[in-house]
Amino acid sequence: MQEYDVVIIGSGLGGLLCANILVEEGYKVCVLEKNQQIGGNLQTFVRDRVIFDTGVHYLGGLAEGENLNRFFNYFGIMDKLKLEKMDENGFDIVTFDGDNNEYPYAQGYENFIRILSQKFPDEEKNIRTYCDEIKRVCTRFPLYNLQNGESYHSDSELLQTNAKAFIATITKNEKLRNVLAGTNLLYAGIGEKTPFYIHALVLNSYIESAWRCVGGGSQIAKLIEKNIRKFGGDIFKRSEVKQLKFEGEDLRYAELTNGKTIQAKQFISNAHPSVTLDLLEPGKIRKSYHTRFKSLQNSASAFTLYLVFKENTVNYINHNYYHFKNNDVWAPVDYKPGEWPLSYGTFMVAGLKPSKYAEGMAVLTYMKYDEVKQWENTSSTVAHPDFRGEEYEEFKRAKSEILIDELQKKFPGIRENIKAYYSSTPLTYRDYIASPGGSMYGIVKDCYDPLKTLVPARTKVKNLFFTGQNLHFHGVLGVTVSAFVTCSEILGLDYLLEKIAKKEATLNK
Ligand SMILES: Cc1cc2nc3c(=O)[nH]c(=O)nc-3n(C[C@H](O)[C@H](O)[C@H](O)COP(=O)(O)OP(=O)(O)OC[C@H]3O[C@@H](n4cnc5c(N)ncnc54)[C@H](O)[C@@H]3O)c2cc1C
Repeated sequence: MQEYDVVIIGSGLGGLLCANILVEEGYKVCVLEKNQQIGGNLQTFVRDRVIFDTGVHYLGGLAEGENLNRFFNYFGIMDKLKLEKMDENGFDIVTFDGDNNEYPYAQGYENFIRILSQKFPDEEKNIRTYCDEIKRVCTRFPLYNLQNGESYHSDSELLQTNAKAFIATITKNEKLRNVLAGTNLLYAGIGEKTPFYIHALVLNSYIESAWRCVGGGSQIAKLIEKNIRKFGGDIFKRSEVKQLKFEGEDLRYAELTNGKTIQAKQFISNAHPSVTLDLLEPGKIRKSYHTRFKSLQNSASAFTLYLVFKENTVNYINHNYYHFKNNDVWAPVDYKPGEWPLSYGTFMVAGLKPSKYAEGMAVLTYMKYDEVKQWENTSSTVAHPDFRGEEYEEFKRAKSEILIDELQKKFPGIRENIKAYYSSTPLTYRDYIASPGGSMYGIVKDCYDPLKTLVPARTKVKNLFFTGQNLHFHGVLGVTVSAFVTCSEILGLDYLLEKIAKKEATLNK
């Protein structure tokens, strides 16, 4: 049996980036992905010739010199990405029922302050303080800035600052507080838990610059796949890991549901930590370690409505909307029965052909797993399709209609311009990503219990590492940072940062 140096479980962005880093260093690497398509949340699908993203609608930090740009330059993919810069004066717009104002988030800090102050003329100083705090917090994460430095894990002030409470100290203006936290769907914010640093790391990257992937985010996965194969790495799709088996104290084999066994010296799991530990041969780790991960709360799940528009009917808008029914932007994640949906985000599809008109739009809103629990014993993906039943289809139809009625209030006439619609539920995310309860962003970071919710790359099994969105923070940027953290366990962080610097120097020549 061929032995790999490293086997990676899951081809989400984190798994792919780890594979890319390691193959380039001469490691013999294999990525095992259960789905037909690689990329995890970067997967796209096509309906009525429109390419829809499943889990990445826009990216931040991609302008020259910014962090994700620098990371992607290391991977050699920056100049190959098809991107469209979003509206400079409002890439995200926060709106509320009963308030005709649109509250824009502009790109660039000075621009952000200037444009938002036009809506809140007495608040310019406070908005500036808010921006300064975001920037200050981001400097405390060295790797976010491609530097080595002290771990933030011992920085209790940073870890224990609550986002909602902190924003409340910035201004007494209730509307501004809600506007500043109005894109918290980006991290499924929970008023009583979400740390300010999560808010800051996510917001900073978009305020610096915001971009859509033209033709979908799967291009990132495809470019990294190309790199991995170029350096001799293997990626096996439709290869679900069923069990991880040991030889003595060392993890040694990945047993797949298709009957194959793959042998390796080291393992990296891109799957959720509790899902990973479920795969371990019984009796090899302490029960308390396993229970710890099982007991952690996961972020909310979602219902996404994918609209295909009739040709040349709906103007393409180069910004997203985050719309709220009420004035409390922290409430929607914990909606009560009958209230759904309390908020939604709209994301236009950036089609391959530039056009004044939009091909489609994704509408993302929270959905609790309980709403689909009655179908939890069904499972359906492209690799293993199944019909969950007519009742489930009817549930999706009914929810879609409610959401379209809501959209109609904000975008009058939109209903007539819809050619077709499709939807995904928490079961879709659960089945495609293997995230517990279809959680969008994995383990919830809790500012009141920070150390319990931080996941290190190292596990209690000496040759098994975690990577992906559960480590530091989620999103394309967060997962990229996490891939470097994971690989630094094998290669050393100084070494990796030096490699990045060397590549940058070559590029700048
Ligand atoms: C609805 C939604 C919208 C989002 N929007 C944005 C956005 O606009 N911008 C942004 O930056 N981020 C966004 N995100 C977040 C971002 O997509 C994720 O944080 C990121 O892609 C997660 O990457 P990951 O490496 O953790 O892997 P994941 O994407 O979680 O993938 C894990 C992979 O592991 C595989 N796997 C699991 N178990 C096994 C097994 N036993 N055997 C084999 N394979 C297995 C899965 O099939 C999957 O491919 C969004 C997420 C969601 C859900």
